[in-house]
Amino acid sequence: MDIMENNGNVEDYFDEKNKEEKKVSTFDERNYLNTKLAKGETKREITVRIILTKNSEGKLKFAIPVDVHTMTVDKEVAESGFKTFVCGDSLNYPEHDSRGCPLCKRVDELFEEANKFEKGSPERKSLCREAFKLKDTKRVAYVARCIERGKEDEGVKFWRFNSWSNGNGIYDKIRGLAEQRNRESLEAGRGRLNIFDYEEGYDLILTITKSEKSSEKGIEKTEINITDAKFPSKLSNDTAQADAWINDPKEWRDMYKIKPYEYLSVIADGGVPVWDSSVNHYVAKIKKEDKNNDDEDLKGNEILEDNSRVADASANDAELPF
Ligand SMILES: [Zn+2]
Repeated sequence: MDIMENNGNVEDYFDEKNKEEKKVSTFDERNYLNTKLAKGETKREITVRIILTKNSEGKLKFAIPVDVHTMTVDKEVAESGFKTFVCGDSLNYPEHDSRGCPLCKRVDELFEEANKFEKGSPERKSLCREAFKLKDTKRVAYVARCIERGKEDEGVKFWRFNSWSNGNGIYDKIRGLAEQRNRESLEAGRGRLNIFDYEEGYDLILTITKSEKSSEKGIEKTEINITDAKFPSKLSNDTAQADAWINDPKEWRDMYKIKPYEYLSVIADGGVPVWDSSVNHYVAKIKKEDKNNDDEDLKGNEILEDNSRVADASANDAELPF
């Protein structure tokens, strides 16, 4: 089960560390599952145990879908040149800004602007290209909660991964594994099997390797292979500890917040958002000279090809947590 993930947009919340306004700096990298390889590292294995998360209807799911924009950004915004933002219209965020999503709105504005020019004109083509490029940044990501084995002392971690249209994404793989194990158990006359069960479920083993395609255009890519442990286990042998993890107060929405409206507006323009206390919101940083971003654009296109924006084939089995 090979899964390609792009390092540029996985866990890029690590880039937040110094970029967020200091006053609400609650960033703690231990809260996020790190599926990146360190520099020079070619392979790493991590074992996790999924902890179910309640969706907005109160149903337990192994992963919650979130609308995001994965896009190229100025290197001052994220060192890698790529960043994922929660879409301002993401329905799983009841508290989202009533003005909507500046990135989605910009797509409409660009198309409107393009319509002012004659069909086939270079201006129209250029605006349409820009609009489609921004539109293509939107996709569905998933957020799951887990414990990393060997790092249980770091508590509940959040794991975000993008959906894939080809059925080979992490979500599809975990769901496939859960269904397969359940089917095998039923066929063997052993009754239902829920790999997410806290008493007799299974850990998941993620093998992260450097992709051979990594060298292309300097983009670091990894492949993630997912298997389940051979034997069932408890989430924790300590019942109180298991309960504490299951009821952990950290909310996934707080871990992956929607950026303020003005911040995303600046991003939509390709700028660098900086906090301006005189107006009390984000504004675009004024740069000394415009950089040539062609190279970043190329990388961005490549990433877009690797991902998908297919809606979640959502739960149809009320019993199983997906
Ligand atoms: Zn949006």
